[in-house]
Amino acid sequence: MKKTKLVNKFALLISVFVVFTVTLSAIVTYFSQMKLNKNACVNKIMGVGDYLEGLIAEDPGDFKEYIDFYKEHYEDIRIPKDFTDSMDAKIAFYAAFSKEYPGATFKTDVLPSEMSLELQTLYYTFVHEYWILTFEQARESFDLPYTYFLLPDDSDNTTMYMIDGERTEDPDHPGFLYMGDTYYEEPSEHPLMWNTYHNGKKYDDVYEWDNDWGNTYSYYTPVVLNGVCEGLVVTEIDVKYVNGKIIKSTLLLSLQLGLLLIAATGILLIIVNKKHISRINHLSEQVNEFSANKGYETIEAINAYPYGNDEISALAGNTAAMIKQLQSHERKIAKDAQFKSDFLANMSHEIRTPMNAVVGLSELLLKEDLSEKSREYSEQIYESANSMLSVINDILDFSKIEAGTMVITPADYDVRKSINMVVSNQAMGIADKPVKMGLNISLDIPNRLYGDVARIKQILGNVISNAVKFTKEGSISVDVKSRPIDEKNITLVIRVSDTGIGIKKEDYEKIFESFSQIDSKRNREVEGTGLGLAITQQLIGLMNGTIEVESEYGVGSTFIITLPQKISDSQTAGEDPKVITASGEKPLKAPGARVLVVDDNSVNLYVAKNLLEMYGIKPVCVPSGDLAIKAVDKKEFDLILMDYMMPKMDGIEAMKAIREQHPEYKDRPVIAFTANAVEEAREKLLSEGMNDFLPKPVKVEDVEAILRKWLPDELIE
Ligand code: ADP
Repeated sequence: MKKTKLVNKFALLISVFVVFTVTLSAIVTYFSQMKLNKNACVNKIMGVGDYLEGLIAEDPGDFKEYIDFYKEHYEDIRIPKDFTDSMDAKIAFYAAFSKEYPGATFKTDVLPSEMSLELQTLYYTFVHEYWILTFEQARESFDLPYTYFLLPDDSDNTTMYMIDGERTEDPDHPGFLYMGDTYYEEPSEHPLMWNTYHNGKKYDDVYEWDNDWGNTYSYYTPVVLNGVCEGLVVTEIDVKYVNGKIIKSTLLLSLQLGLLLIAATGILLIIVNKKHISRINHLSEQVNEFSANKGYETIEAINAYPYGNDEISALAGNTAAMIKQLQSHERKIAKDAQFKSDFLANMSHEIRTPMNAVVGLSELLLKEDLSEKSREYSEQIYESANSMLSVINDILDFSKIEAGTMVITPADYDVRKSINMVVSNQAMGIADKPVKMGLNISLDIPNRLYGDVARIKQILGNVISNAVKFTKEGSISVDVKSRPIDEKNITLVIRVSDTGIGIKKEDYEKIFESFSQIDSKRNREVEGTGLGLAITQQLIGLMNGTIEVESEYGVGSTFIITLPQKISDSQTAGEDPKVITASGEKPLKAPGARVLVVDDNSVNLYVAKNLLEMYGIKPVCVPSGDLAIKAVDKKEFDLILMDYMMPKMDGIEAMKAIREQHPEYKDRPVIAFTANAVEEAREKLLSEGMNDFLPKPVKVEDVEAILRKWLPDELIE
């Protein structure tokens, strides 16, 4: 998602706020101004009307005097300049004094351009300001050909058209100067005017109405002479024009206010950005830096920065404290992980030592001449011990993977030999079943690759042992091919197919989950923890490989594994692929080999001795490092099996002492013989100078592999 800068968000927010405030203030200003202006307009027209009424009441006879007086006092009653300006020609005063035609008003809302020259002169002299006259006076003053009035006929409340004081039926005379149409038929049409005139009473109010001008206020002052209402002084004002001005000035004011607010906002934002957001940015950079590089210097960087003394500084302080907490948690986790891995190492050692005795001795027991019952029991012991071992191994591996401590240790290995070994071991599982096992290793696979062969064997072992477990009859085939990546790398593609019970499509993912077994009813007799494939998948993942399954329920399954590997020796087999059956290979014999076994545990020594004797070897067995050094002083050995954990002097110290005192042992193999199966221990042993690793409990196949690998060829028969 695109990031929005905080300052932009503020700007947007404030802009919305400014627009809102300005609009609101414009509306408020407009209405309050309108109200003010309405009041001002009303006051003005009432004032003027009252004043004129006063003049007329003084001496209604000489109208000319009114004008003079008016002119004389014009300045006094003058509406303020800007106010009258805004009126243009739209403020008018009407007066009607004719006894003959009471109610007639003379109106000046004709446009100056429509007036005769004389009228215009007069208009600009008087009318434009304020004037009052009867219609006869008007005609005389303006030298008009006619005067034309619309008047109310009191007798029947209809309109009568008056031309030059004569009633006429046809008002539409061309050339007539139109002088107005102030005539109202019904009291309801112009009630205030009507009532004022007919009652001769002044109403303390204005009449608001709409006409061509727009919105108009009219104020009616009765002209009462000798107790009779002779006419009205009408003062009017058009508020629409005034309002237009108000809108304009309001808009201008709002615009000014808006601009001012925007400028103020800009300055405010610059200050906020500089003073506050920059601090947030700094903190955010530190947090990013921390999450990217896990650098605990971040704490110092945060503490050193001048965050000030407000919420942001509190946030910075809290963040630093949180990172510190994380740091201590991480330390604790690391400590716990260390503890766990130590615990695993110790536990595996503790469990494997007695297991060594159980597996080794029961294996040896089986080689003795036993009664049928004893053989059966021994076989049971051997099998149970083995399966317990594999459960322990699985749990240890699983815990290591979970703890993230599983390490892949690549080394140079012989592909064919390693795969052969796994397949032939697994082939034992089909010995009593009508199942054939076939192995096909493609000829173009390089002889030696660089990878973690122990883990590859474990992976293959897991998948093939599943095939063995779940196939009652038919065949299991292991097919190994290589796919080139570049000159130095290939991908091993291993397919393990079986004609077993098969897996439903919906279970493909489930089988790789830890502790998950499917079809448990059907497979009740099949042993397992449900960890094998979970570990296999994780191990393959650690090696950047993949595992997939294709299966048809009830027909069989194929597991396809890919593993990228480096090429150590690009030479290929150049021979026919081997087909191995459960028969196994001829056992190895090395009667001439001189082997020293060092272990503080007498049972271990006993097991090792008897195992080696199977290969015709008569080993020298000693229970401590000291005695091992002494034994080397006395006799030469081709191979030393050295326990690591021993009291006083451990295996590494003993090995180093031997190699120091007898330089020829620098090139002779010393094999770490230990129950400590954890990877770090293994690496430590190898890095300290041990040549290989023989895990306890010792298995025949492991011993054989060690002998084949490390004894000089001429000693092996
Ligand atoms: P387990 O120790 O139970 O064999 P795995 O993780 O190795 O555990 O296998 C999980 C489950 O996957 C098995 O219990 C079985 O149901 C199924 N499975 C594995 N391999 C096969 C196979 N070759 N044929 C049929 N089912 C298989």
